[in-house]
Amino acid sequence: MVGVKGKSGVYKRTKSVWNKGKKCPQTSMEKNGSWKGGRIRRGKYISIKIPTHPMSDKSGYIKEHILVMEKYLGRYLTKDERVHHINGIKDDNRIENLKLMTQGEHSSFHRKEELKHGKKLFGKD
Ligand SMILES: [Zn+2]
Repeated sequence: MVGVKGKSGVYKRTKSVWNKGKKCPQTSMEKNGSWKGGRIRRGKYISIKIPTHPMSDKSGYIKEHILVMEKYLGRYLTKDERVHHINGIKDDNRIENLKLMTQGEHSSFHRKEELKHGKKLFGKD
């Protein structure tokens, strides 16, 4: 074994691609050990701060309904999967209100819903 000490360029920086652009997780805010401290409302959705989650955003937040579905499934969602709120209430994250769909199913579902309710999507007035 030849020592590679001191050589530059041997270090791999292979944090997963998901974490691109992220800084190291800050632990200072977690000293009480309670993850609930990171639960916030963002618009219509509830998000939870889990910087280590592969789908968390730049600030380390992941939407709660995704977490609920993942916990139910026992695995992470794929990029093509979406979690739909059956009753349309985006902060009702009970598992019985959530439905797993593919991205394609989900967007066509919503397109149909909007047409049904007479919303003009591609609206030329
Ligand atoms: Zn939906």
